[in-house]
Amino acid sequence: MANLKGVRGAPDILPRDSSGWQRLEDVARAILRRYGYVEIRTPIFERTELFVRGIGEGTDIVEKEMYTFTDQGQESLTLRPEGTAPVVRAYLEHQMAAQSPLVKVYYLGPMFRRERPQSGRYRQFHQIGVEAIGSDRPSVDAEVIALLIDLLVEEYRIPDLQLRLNSIGDPACRPKILDRLLRYMRERASQLCPECQKRLERNPLRILDCKQEGCQRLVAQAPKPLESLCGACADHFAQVRSLLDLLKIAYTIDDRLVRGLEYYTRTTFEVINPHLGAQNALAGGGRYDGLIEMMGGPSTPGIGFAVGLERVMASIPGDAEEQTALQGVYIATMGQDAHKSGMLLLQELRRRGVRGLIDHEARSLKGQMRQANKDRVRYCLILGEEELTQGRVTLRDMAKAEQQSLALEGVIEHLLELERAGTR
Ligand SMILES: [Zn+2]
Ligand SMILES: [Zn+2]
Repeated sequence: MANLKGVRGAPDILPRDSSGWQRLEDVARAILRRYGYVEIRTPIFERTELFVRGIGEGTDIVEKEMYTFTDQGQESLTLRPEGTAPVVRAYLEHQMAAQSPLVKVYYLGPMFRRERPQSGRYRQFHQIGVEAIGSDRPSVDAEVIALLIDLLVEEYRIPDLQLRLNSIGDPACRPKILDRLLRYMRERASQLCPECQKRLERNPLRILDCKQEGCQRLVAQAPKPLESLCGACADHFAQVRSLLDLLKIAYTIDDRLVRGLEYYTRTTFEVINPHLGAQNALAGGGRYDGLIEMMGGPSTPGIGFAVGLERVMASIPGDAEEQTALQGVYIATMGQDAHKSGMLLLQELRRRGVRGLIDHEARSLKGQMRQANKDRVRYCLILGEEELTQGRVTLRDMAKAEQQSLALEGVIEHLLELERAGTR
């Protein structure tokens, strides 16, 4: 059993980093609440079929990247590669439509894809996502995008982000969009990369966002969905844009921004951090007015996005190492009796809401003070054998480097008072 190591592309989040992650999550939960979203927690794994139907055969995720296994009951299960399909399953299974005409939920947690590990790509990664199911109104699109921008720009304070926006039509105009694109691309099929030659038959819209140089040259002149929107789709897009203008949310139109599957409709969007290199999309989303019907439910519109938290983490300016504020009390003791008194004091302090620490290694007073510094406590309570017999303790303020002798009696009230003053 020598050298047991974690799985490649599935990093540990170590104690020194976890408080940064918690901050991201806390901030997100607070703003999601303000926008009227409530959390949904679906299982980490689902029946494989859910993702095959919900993400689509012929996609990279379903073809190459899913962690799929057969369990002891011969059922094929898959670790969730994304959050939308599970949310839609739960929405239908629990008849959530009956509770509200517009269901607004968010999820937060790990996703799993067997991608080639590289910078900015992980096999276990974390997403915050929202789904708003039940309305096709442009104001929902605008609200969802406003939420995303508030989260990334106002709360996480990530500079220089770019919001890209597009519309890819609906079942009324999609045939015309595809027809024009296919006619153009078929004439030039030999210049497409092998991947796009396959897409030509299965997933032609995806050619528009191919990163290969040859394909990009062709795409530059190709007919785009925006040019062939029907009246209703054009009107929807115009309303989304005017609402974003009203809310002073800047965006650029990216007429190559697509999602490949039929059930994606109208608005698509993406947030890019230009400083991140090749894997620079922090978040992506769009409308999926055809998905719920495709998964066996009644025709129901929906829209959502997912944010990649690893990339958010990589985008937050320098103060990731920022020192946490001094907080709580370290009880330093000399001798066994003092240690017992210390344990008793700590129990009371902790029960009353104070962060409290004590040495368990019988270290010297100097060693304990060093540890108190490392643990970033605000106060140190020093209990010496002799002092205790006189009913006194020493209180050291670590921030001011001052200390004073106090009566043991009432010291807890005194510390609680200091804590309250400190948090004010
Ligand atoms: Zn290509
Ligand atoms: Zn249309």
